[in-house]
Formats: sequence, C-alpha cells, structure tokens
Amino acid sequence: MNKVLIIGAGGVGSVVAHKCASVPDVFNDIMLASRTISKCDAIAHNIGKDNIQTAQVDADDVPELVSLIKTYQPSLIINVALPYQDLHIMDACLETGIDYLDTANYEPLEEAKFEYKWQWGYQERFKDKGIMALLGSGFDPGVTNVFTAYAAKHHFDELHTLDIVDCNAGDHGKAFATNFNPEINIREITQKGKYYKDENWIEIPPHSIKKDLHYPHIGPRPSYLIYHEELESLVKHFPTITQARFWMTFSEEYLTHLRVIQNIGMAGIEPVSYEGREIVPLQFLKAVLPDPGSLGENYEGETSIGCRIKGVKDGLEKTYYVYNNCSHQEAYKETGAQGVSYTTGVPAMIGAKMILEKKWGGKGVFNMEQFDPDPFMDDLNRYGLPWEEKIDVDLEVD
Ligand code: NDP
Repeated sequence: MNKVLIIGAGGVGSVVAHKCASVPDVFNDIMLASRTISKCDAIAHNIGKDNIQTAQVDADDVPELVSLIKTYQPSLIINVALPYQDLHIMDACLETGIDYLDTANYEPLEEAKFEYKWQWGYQERFKDKGIMALLGSGFDPGVTNVFTAYAAKHHFDELHTLDIVDCNAGDHGKAFATNFNPEINIREITQKGKYYKDENWIEIPPHSIKKDLHYPHIGPRPSYLIYHEELESLVKHFPTITQARFWMTFSEEYLTHLRVIQNIGMAGIEPVSYEGREIVPLQFLKAVLPDPGSLGENYEGETSIGCRIKGVKDGLEKTYYVYNNCSHQEAYKETGAQGVSYTTGVPAMIGAKMILEKKWGGKGVFNMEQFDPDPFMDDLNRYGLPWEEKIDVDLEVD
C-alpha cells in the first residue's frame, strides 16, 4: 500500500493533494501536513475524499518531522513547502529511510542564491541509506528537464543550444501579484541574469537582455533572460550543450512595480528594526501582497512553457520546440488553483507516481533528466498538461 506525505499546504500543495487523490490506485493514502493545519483541513475538505488525513508540522524542526514520519510511515515525501525547508526534510528522510521529492532547489534564507551544490552534497548519504531524492519535479524545473531528455532521446544525436521559454499570458486583474510564493518569486527574479556559453557562466544585470518571442496561441511577448536552476543540471547531464538560456515574460507594468519595490527597499532580505522589533522587508511585503492561491477565480488566459533546442540528427542540423499551454480557468475549474500552481503540482504528482510505480528509481540524488522521459511524457498528456511539438521551425533565439 502506498502512502504519501505531502508537506506544504499552499497553492502548489493544494494541486498536488487534488491530483494524488484523483489517482487512488497509486496514491492509496495521503497525509497533507503543513505549518498551519487549518489550510490542510480546508484543502482536504474541498477534495472531499476519505483517504486524506492532515497534520500540523514545522518542517524545519527535524525531530518533530521524524516523529510524524515514524507515526504515518509513508512510502514517499513530497516537499512542496518552501526551498528553505529542503535540507531539513532531506535530513528527516535520511533518518527514517524514506524517498524524497521536491519542486525547487534549496536556497539559504539569508542569501538569495539557488544552486544544486547543497542538495547534490547528499548524494553519498542517500546512496548509502538506499533511498532516492528526485529534485525539481515541477514545471520549470521539472517538465522542462523531461522535455530536454525527450528531445535528446528521440530527436537528436547531439543537443547544441537550449532555450527554455516561460510565458505567462494570464491576467488576474490585480495591479501587482506574484504567481507563487511572493518571497521566493521576488528573490528569484531580482537576481542577476546568468546563462551558459562555451563552458562558462556569463552574468548580466537583471532584465538587461530582452527579445520579443512568439508563443503558440498567444503571440509575441517581451521575454527577458533570467537565471533558472535547471540550467545547472541540464548542462551537466547533456555535456554537448554549448549554450543554455532561460527566458521569462514580464509586462512593463510588472517590471515597473518590481523596480519601485526594489528602489524603496521592500525587496530587502536583511532584517530592519521597526517599532522595537526586527522585520524582513520582503517578508512584510509578502503579507500585504495578494495570496497567489487566491488569484484563480478571476484569472484568464494561458501559460506557455517549453524548450527550444538546436542540434544535430544523422549529420544534419535540426531545430525542435516542445511546449505545453495551460489555461488558468481550466486549472481553476479542476482544482480551485490558478495555472502556475497547477503546472507545478501536476508534475509533482507525476514524479511521485513514477517513483511509486517503480518506473523511475535508484539510490542517491537525481534530477529529472536522468530518467527515461517516455512514461512521464505519457502521463503529462493523461493528467492535464498535454504537450505539442514543432520540428524544423524558426526558434527566434539566435
Ligand atoms: P506557498 O507559500 O503558497 O505555500 C508554501 C506552504 O509551505 C505554505 O502552506 C506554508 O505554510 C508551508 N510552509 C512554509 N514553511 C513551512 C515549514 N517550516 N513547515 C511546514 N510547512 C511550511 O508556496 P507555493 O505553493 O506557491 O510554492 C510551493 C513550492 O513550489 C515553493 O518551493 C516554490 O518555489 C515551488 N514552485 C516550483 C515551481 C516549479 O515549476 N518548479 C513553480 C512554482 C513554485 P503556511 O501556510 O503556514 O505559510
């Protein structure tokens, strides 16, 4: 019997719980645990199935988490809390011998810097314990890694350039809101841009390289080169890649708000003293911004995320574009969550399903592209994120 422990009851956790509950032959029993149990209870109530239980847990408190794991005895832990919790939850997995999955790589609270070195550092310990960690099973990272592995398996002898393109053409009707946890999102997009070229990482000022890219069913959108974590693992696992970049769309309105937030110091992560107590400006900002989980009802439009790849097949140059478009409204109708939570939560469920069905397995710490992409690609079509592909088209990314 498969039991899963889902940690984190935010927008993504809600979708993961909904989707796992909809596949009861794989996910026989589900526990949703988070810092605030009332959020878990509300999600379980909405799902309305009797194989979901809830619990309160502070995932940064390893002994508390270990005790919950020992009581519930899950086969797998799905971590959809925040990246700050990753290492603590991995520590609890090591102590209890349980497999681990997440959607975002660890970053330290005091430094907005995400890289895989901390989690890859668990490789030997996970191997010795005989358990596995699957890192980054969301959309990007996650599906983008699987798309790249699928391209390498079926379309190319050698991958040469990779451009991951992430467009959110949705409109939620708010002046400014982030689509997932505001603190994590703003830390990510205010960093310097960075891309991979000829074995070097090149840093650029934030949002200083822009292209108008056309997205299927959407049209042209201004797209900015930013750094994203999957680039690090993809250039490691596909060493023929000479250039790897990540593009994300932002409206002028969004960037203007972001500039103001930064200029007045509200994106700061250093504590400041306010009326006799210490507060972190970005954490205070999170408290006043719209909750990403509440955006779904009025969200219209689609996301479009994919990989644009150049390489060689049978001695000939070839281009390939594989992508998914997801409607915010459809996502909301199905799960009560907007498209960004949906596109993250569905792949987390599928990654967990791959492990529980033993289609993906091993001992140690793995990124998504290290496994056979085919069963995962099939399940994307089956569980709400159908993909399309275009061959030998203009990728617009020269
Ligand atoms: P939310 O802020 O909506 O939810 C996070 C949840 O984690 C909240 O319920 C929060 O509890 C809980 N939590 C925080 N700290 C702890 C703790 N110490 N112990 C237990 N629970 C805790 O975030 P999202 O749902 O938007 O995002 C979830 C994750 O998904 C993030 O890591 C994000 O980076 C990742 N993500 C990945 C994407 C991808 O494509 N790979 C895309 C989008 C997001 P409380 O309710 O009490 O605050």
